[in-house]
This record gives sequence, C-alpha cells and structure tokens, in this order.
Amino acid sequence: MINAKARAVDGPDKPFRAAEIKRRDLDSDDVLIEIKYAGICHSDIHTAHGEWGPVNYPLVPGHEIAGIITDVGANVTKYNIGDRVGVGCMVDSCGQCENCRKGEEQYCLKGNIPTYAGVDKYGEPTQGGYSTHIVVQEDFVLRIPDNIELDVAAPLLCAGITTYSPLNHWKVGNSKKVAIVGMGGLGHMAVQIADAMGAEVTVLSQTLKKKEDGIQLGADNYYATNNPETFEKLAGTFDLILNTVSAKIDLNAYLGLLTLDGTLVNVGAPAEPLSLNVMNLIGHRRSFAGSLIGGIRETQEMLDFCAKNDIAPKIEVISADQIDEAYKRVLASDVKYRFVIDTSTM
Ligand SMILES: [Zn+2]
Ligand SMILES: [Zn+2]
Repeated sequence: MINAKARAVDGPDKPFRAAEIKRRDLDSDDVLIEIKYAGICHSDIHTAHGEWGPVNYPLVPGHEIAGIITDVGANVTKYNIGDRVGVGCMVDSCGQCENCRKGEEQYCLKGNIPTYAGVDKYGEPTQGGYSTHIVVQEDFVLRIPDNIELDVAAPLLCAGITTYSPLNHWKVGNSKKVAIVGMGGLGHMAVQIADAMGAEVTVLSQTLKKKEDGIQLGADNYYATNNPETFEKLAGTFDLILNTVSAKIDLNAYLGLLTLDGTLVNVGAPAEPLSLNVMNLIGHRRSFAGSLIGGIRETQEMLDFCAKNDIAPKIEVISADQIDEAYKRVLASDVKYRFVIDTSTM
C-alpha cells in the first residue's frame, strides 16, 4: 500500500482534519500520480455535507486533480513517469456496456466509479484529490497540455468538462444565442468556452456585480435576474440556456427565454426536486435536459480546446488548512472563481 497525506471530513457538519490514507499498490494498468493541485467543486460540498444521500465517512473529496506521474504499472502504455496529468470525476467504469463503448463512460449502465464517495472494483471506498497521491488506471487519466499550468488545469477536470460537454453536444457555434445562468466556477468557464465555440453569449446572473468579469471573459451581454424586466426583455431569445446554478431556480421563468426548439440544460444539481409547467415546453417545442460531465475522450478534447484557445479558470490558490473557510465562501458566492488547494501544504 502507498501512504498519502489527505484532508478528510468525518461527518456532515464536521471540519476537515489532516489524515493519512492508503492508496492501492499499482496494478499493471495503474499509474501513481503525485497530486499538485486539487480544485474545490460545489459537488464536494454537497457530498461532504451529506446532501446527496448517505456518505461513508471519513471522506476525502476532490475530483479536480492535477499532478505528475511518479510510477507506472507494468502494462501501462499511454503514460510515462514525469507526465503532467489530470483526473476528473470518475476513475473507472465497466468498459463493456453500450455507453462505455461509445466513450460516454460517465453514463456507464453499471454506474461509473466516482473519484470519491464510490466503491472501486476491489470493493474499497474511493477517496479523492484533497490528497498528495492517487492511484488510477491509465484509461481514466487525462494529459494536461504543456501550456496549461497545473493549478489552472485542475478546475478544468470538472468545471471545464461539465460545461464543455453540453455546449459541444448542443452545437452552440455559428452565432447561436446561448445564455449561461450563474457566474460561478462553472459559469465563468462556460462563458469562455461558448465564446470560443462562436456563440453569442449572454450571462444571466443574480446581480450585475460580476458584469465586468463576464464581459472580459467573452460574454456579449450580461443581465441581472433579480430584475423582472430581464425576463420580459429576453423572452423567446435563446437557442440554449445552460443552467450552472445548483440552488433552486424558477424553471418556468427561464424556459420562457427559449426560442422555438430551444433547450434548457441543467448541469447544476440542486438537492431539492424542481417543478415545471409542461405547457412551457409544449407551447414552443422546447426541451429541458441534463448533462453529466463528459467522457474521457471528450475530456481530453476539452483540455486541448482550452489550450488552443487560451481558456483558463480564474483561481484562488489556498492551503490545506483553509478548506473549511473556502467551503463557507463558496456557499456565500464569495469566490473568483474557483478555489484550488496547493497539496504541498498537506
Ligand atoms: Zn465537480
Ligand atoms: Zn459501462
């Protein structure tokens, strides 16, 4: 077994503490990664707080992982010691089902193995990236392009792919009108990616507080959703609305902003069910959809796309002792725009 330092949480309302965890010895197709940076995702907070169902504590969250390969199994072919790599939200899947064979491992019919709060093929609980080392089989490891620094690479592994995949799937190029709901960790990535894909991008944020940032990142328009006039003015405007907010929103109000055949895609995952008036779909042949991260092949495509288009998250690097404080600030929307833990401080 390989010892790793980590930050773990023991219950829904417990603070993080320093912990020693074990990583498995390398299987023939595994790589050992020395983690350099781990992003803090809103999902980490939902999971650590037990809001998405029961959790086996102690829990080490973190699925935005960037680091360096320090050892490889005997049959590893894709990576060498010293390679700059990342790991996102999943570390394994069945590899056999229809969806896995299509490269959509996130939708594995047997369920993908999440990077943390899951159970791996050996029956062991998975523990995430708030840690100094992780062992992952090579097929679930991503290559980080040379011109992306490891600290800014980390958030791409969840926030980047979560927004890239639906924008890619619904083909937002060619000046399509796209609205991004929320200017947080996900939203500020979505603005950059949609802009680089060629969309006309509008940000819908609660207030105009982050307008300057939004425009600078590539938004063409920016509206406050706390102003009811926004919903009148923009009625029937958008081909695609990407909702990145994981709090409850008024779906019916947002559906009214879609064109004929427009789609509202949720990537934010509120803990509570949302309600919608189906007439808002029927009347304009609109769709309400969801999207979960992206497959491994698409995640690599996203990293290469970001490298080519100079897309990077805005980050605030913190030490391991600041995780609790960072969680509070994320919940208060007081982050520009992603916290990244420097794991050398573990
Ligand atoms: Zn995430
Ligand atoms: Zn599968």
